[in-house]
Amino acid sequence: MSEAPTVIRPDHEVLIVGAGFGGIAAAIELREAGIHDFVLMDKHDGIGGTWYVNTYPGIAVDIPAVFYSLSRMPFTSSSRFFPPGHEIQQYIERVVDAYGLRRRIRLSTTVDGARWDETDHLWRVTVNGGEEVTARYVIGALGLLEVAKLPDIPGIDTFAGHKVHTARWDHDYDYDGKRIAIIGTGATALQLIPELAKVASHLTVFQRTPIWLAPKPDFRIDWGLDKVLSGVQPVRAAVRGAIASGIDMGLIGGVLSLRRMPKVMPYVTKAGGALYKLWLRDPELAEKLTPTYAPGCKRPSMSNEYFSTFKQKDRVALITEKIVRITEHGVLTADGVEHEIDVLVCATGFRVGERGFAPAFHIYGETGEELGDFWHEHHYHAYQGVSVPNWPNMFMVGCGPNSIIPSSILVTIENTAAHARRAIVETRRRGATKVDVNRPAYDDWAKFCTERTEGSMWVTAPCAGSNTYYVNYQGELAIRPTTGLNQWWGNRHFPFRHYTFSTRLGQTPVPTGVSATVGVSEVVEPRPPATRLPRKAT
Ligand code: NAP
Repeated sequence: MSEAPTVIRPDHEVLIVGAGFGGIAAAIELREAGIHDFVLMDKHDGIGGTWYVNTYPGIAVDIPAVFYSLSRMPFTSSSRFFPPGHEIQQYIERVVDAYGLRRRIRLSTTVDGARWDETDHLWRVTVNGGEEVTARYVIGALGLLEVAKLPDIPGIDTFAGHKVHTARWDHDYDYDGKRIAIIGTGATALQLIPELAKVASHLTVFQRTPIWLAPKPDFRIDWGLDKVLSGVQPVRAAVRGAIASGIDMGLIGGVLSLRRMPKVMPYVTKAGGALYKLWLRDPELAEKLTPTYAPGCKRPSMSNEYFSTFKQKDRVALITEKIVRITEHGVLTADGVEHEIDVLVCATGFRVGERGFAPAFHIYGETGEELGDFWHEHHYHAYQGVSVPNWPNMFMVGCGPNSIIPSSILVTIENTAAHARRAIVETRRRGATKVDVNRPAYDDWAKFCTERTEGSMWVTAPCAGSNTYYVNYQGELAIRPTTGLNQWWGNRHFPFRHYTFSTRLGQTPVPTGVSATVGVSEVVEPRPPATRLPRKAT
């Protein structure tokens, strides 16, 4: 008599890594599909991802609240057209409560690595330095701007004053009346600089590359407009539709003229420079603040206060000399001047598109290969921005290569979460336990993305010197070269023949509960080089 096959019960049907917008949107998709056995793990001790971590003064989003919200839940309590960070965090907390997700979230839990188990058709995930958690499916909602980057300037560790990165703002420190320096003039810095200028006795801004920005049409909406824009469903739908279509029109234009843009952009750059002169009405400042690369090479920004801050010349200095080193008391520049300061603020961004930071931990697929190594060898791609062959039952939400369109990140998040849901639901419907994207489908998608972006302005002369993180260390454009509509359709209607569904004898996806919270940790260092794990003996 033959023995009955062993039924493997993973700890969870789905393990979602990350409890920011991506993880929360994925959890909502699963819940709506009737899948309730999932757990969200997050290394931080609170939910919200980027909005939990980034709390520097002046933080806000530059997308209107009516569009910077999940399609399933309106953002009805924004005080301004462009909501400040703490209101977005409050919105996230409300979403989590509205969908009953809180008890499924395991905070202070760092995922260290994951390995596909082909015998049992499940993922073995190591958390908090040793504990093993198993899951049939893993959704990586890891975010993109995740690992804070301190500047690689000599002497940075010798500075004796107060040093802070914008993604770890120190709210206990008293910045009032201090001599503050800030390194970086990106989207974060331009929100923070006007706030620092209000409290500092003197502010020194170190700029390596200037930024393109436009005026911000921001205003209060809590006199009732918030309720109309986000609370009246037909209005909300119309406004969201109008914004999405407007962005898509721009993207169609952009995509159609990707090859022509390198020729046109030098003229756009000149026109932008002329507008800067008019706006600043200070030739010396205009000279320093005008980028030489084309608008759009980096994410465009908005501010009404950034430029005027530099007009307070007795209190605010804009330094464009190269930084040579950080000293005990300040910043030494190439002209030999040591700028003495009490506080050094690093608005130097995040590790994006760098080797060793995507994915943020080792993920060993079916062949035993590590995902970062595979991408390094075959270039960074994911089918529809979501899945990779030989990494079965794994989906990336809002963080995969070629997943993001230049719109609200929430659009990408919802579309890729819908992809994960559709693939998981279909696998279960077929009684299968494994779903793996086919290599030809993946290769076709990779070829499409590469061919569309080859010769575009981001990888040619107009963006030279922009240091844009849209282009990864292999020189490839990391964004999805399609419209939002194409992204929406592609992730919701991909042919099932692009995936292979299979079943292990005796496998039945079985739900179980959620475990407890343990320890705090943060990934800030590049991962050590991957070592190929021996495959589990079968
Ligand atoms: P970022 O755009 O990467 O800017 C980092 C800044 O630090 C750049 O000016 C960079 O100069 C400078 N820098 C880095 N290393 C340096 C070094 N060693 N020496 C001198 N300067 C150095 O980072 P971010 O400003 O934090 O913004 C990151 C992203 O966050 C944005 O692109 C955006 O997607 C998001 N964000 C969005 C909003 C919003 O309202 N939606 C607000 C804030 C941030 P180089 O340019 O020369 O490299």
